[in-house]
Amino acid sequence: MPYYDHVVVGGGVAGMTVAMILAMKGSQVTIIESFPFLSPTVRGFRRKGVLFDTGLHYVGGLGDGHPLDVYFKHLGISDLIQKKAYNPNGFDRFIFEETEASYDIPCGFNKLTSRFTNWFPNEGKAIERYFTAIQQALDASPFLNFSMDFDLESAIHNDTTTLEDFLACITENEELKTLLCYQNLLYGVPPAEVLLITHALVAGSYYMSAHTVEGGGNALVKAYEKRLKKLGVDCFCGNRVESIQISDTREVEGVTLSTGKKLSTRSCIWTAHPHGLIKATPDSAFRPAFKKRLATLEDTTSALMLFGISEHPISSLNGRNIFLWPGGSFDDNLNGRSDQGESIIYLSSAYDKKSKKTAITAIMPQPYGPYAQWKDSERSKRPTDYIEYKKTALEKFKQEVFRRAPELQESVEFVDGATPLTLRDYCATPTGSLYGLQHSVSQFNPAPITKVTGLTLAGQGIVAPGILGAIISAYLTCGILVGHDHLHKELRQYA
Ligand SMILES: Cc1cc2nc3c(=O)[nH]c(=O)nc-3n(C[C@H](O)[C@H](O)[C@H](O)COP(=O)(O)OP(=O)(O)OC[C@H]3O[C@@H](n4cnc5c(N)ncnc54)[C@H](O)[C@@H]3O)c2cc1C
Repeated sequence: MPYYDHVVVGGGVAGMTVAMILAMKGSQVTIIESFPFLSPTVRGFRRKGVLFDTGLHYVGGLGDGHPLDVYFKHLGISDLIQKKAYNPNGFDRFIFEETEASYDIPCGFNKLTSRFTNWFPNEGKAIERYFTAIQQALDASPFLNFSMDFDLESAIHNDTTTLEDFLACITENEELKTLLCYQNLLYGVPPAEVLLITHALVAGSYYMSAHTVEGGGNALVKAYEKRLKKLGVDCFCGNRVESIQISDTREVEGVTLSTGKKLSTRSCIWTAHPHGLIKATPDSAFRPAFKKRLATLEDTTSALMLFGISEHPISSLNGRNIFLWPGGSFDDNLNGRSDQGESIIYLSSAYDKKSKKTAITAIMPQPYGPYAQWKDSERSKRPTDYIEYKKTALEKFKQEVFRRAPELQESVEFVDGATPLTLRDYCATPTGSLYGLQHSVSQFNPAPITKVTGLTLAGQGIVAPGILGAIISAYLTCGILVGHDHLHKELRQYA
């Protein structure tokens, strides 16, 4: 039976990062990915010759010396990708549709403070307090601020203030509040449910800098693949980890794949959705209370997505995303409880060098519920009633996009779309959620260390959502395995 020092379950960004860090330390590592290729969430796809992004539209903190830049340098992939900056004077355009007020959000804390103060001259104090709180949270995290001495305690947040409570303390201006929390679309939890600190870590990274990668998520995954190959990491794609063998003394002994192949190991790092752990581990591995907790963890919302092609770049989307805000509560908008015409729409574009065309993506939060009736159907073998339902939903969404962003009507041809069921199957989350587990005040997500010796967890559900969140979780878990101080010192050299 082949032996590996570490078996990594799941070949998403978190799994690939874990594997790379451990291989860089000289360990024999393998990744097991159930999809036929690595990182189906981020890799994207081509339609009519045009490349579309899926799980990476833009990332925060990739500016020179910023946290993601430091991580990519340490991993040895920064030379294999080409960063592409979003417009630093307005990487996101947020439009209040009721009043047609439009705000271009810039990068950089000084610029943000002065621009917001120009927009809301009577709210200077509130604006100052908000951006100071975000910066303080970034500075206090050893995973984002490498100049501080590493201290795991400081990475554990005891402050239970929600974003909503914090904003209520600093201002009564509803428009300002909305502008200070719209990034919850990037982590899928409404302001009443998210800790200020969680919001700060995600929104704050975009406030630092906003980038994509030339060639999109596809280019990022290819860079990872190149490094994994160079580091000698074995990747078994199209293989599920069906079970993890755990001894009577609660130690990992090996894993069994869907093909029946067995691998021997003393260290298994689970980066797939935590729900999957229940089925993959023997009954005796965890206490019933822990299994119940895993089973009842709630995911972030799902979405409808439309993919369109334009022969020419769309000027309003050049170097920026657009958020179309119809009003209402974030809770209703995020959970897709509003009527379709009244939900937030996110628009993004990417120029595809190969086809010389522009790919347009539109996303609208949508619950999984109505799609659950087809949960037993498989990709490319869906029943006709689902196909009809999908067609109707996407057509309605398309009309909404054209009504609310009429500048797209002339030039964009929508060529494909995704429903919560599509997302469930490509992003491997039970209900097609955009960002996996919710990071919310009412939910206690699993920690990276488990009661089973040799079984650790990483991935977007453990620390924070998004590419940066998945990468930080990989460093946290690898820090447990190889030493935090040691990794932190190495990262410092690139900061
Ligand atoms: C539509 C969309 C847009 C997004 N946009 C952005 C963005 O612009 N910026 C950003 O930062 N983030 C974005 N995200 C989020 C980001 O893509 C994710 O947070 C990140 O990719 C998660 O990485 P991960 O490795 O934790 O999880 P995953 O990518 O889900 O990796 C887990 C892997 O485990 C595999 N797996 C599951 N069970 C098993 C098993 N038993 N055996 C073997 N393999 C298994 C799965 O197939 C999967 O590939 C977006 C996500 C979506 C869906």
